[in-house]
Amino acid sequence: MKLQLYWPGDEREKVSDNFTAGEFFPKRHKYGPVFIDAILIDELQRLRKIIKKSIKITSGYRPAKYNKRIGGSSKSKHMLGMGADIWANMPMADLASAAYKAGFRRIGISKGFIHVDVFTGEAYWEYYKRYGRKKMRMIEKPKRWKV
Ligand SMILES: [Zn+2]
Repeated sequence: MKLQLYWPGDEREKVSDNFTAGEFFPKRHKYGPVFIDAILIDELQRLRKIIKKSIKITSGYRPAKYNKRIGGSSKSKHMLGMGADIWANMPMADLASAAYKAGFRRIGISKGFIHVDVFTGEAYWEYYKRYGRKKMRMIEKPKRWKV
């Protein structure tokens, strides 16, 4: 794990061909530095090349306090700088397939985004709502994943 460190003010700094540091900052940043795992950046850039569409990072690095405030999981890999929620203009299942192709082995699928992270191991899950509460359940690799 190799973390890159960015400070408020570094938002415009390029972290790869298609991503800037600012895209990984929490929405209302006031907590200090932002950490981004170099492997996360590599795999996101590889994914960008595969789908040939821009990727919107809807949530990148989250300081623990911020993660708690927005109701993130207490084990969220966003707090380690290893996770991102992303969106591209395509079906989320296709984006997930492409993410697998790009090297991601921890992928969560939701209706409006997918979560990817570069923590150890392999896991696939989907987010769903039950009685208005956000939940997740593990899934197999869907058949349509062309891998
Ligand atoms: Zn996430």
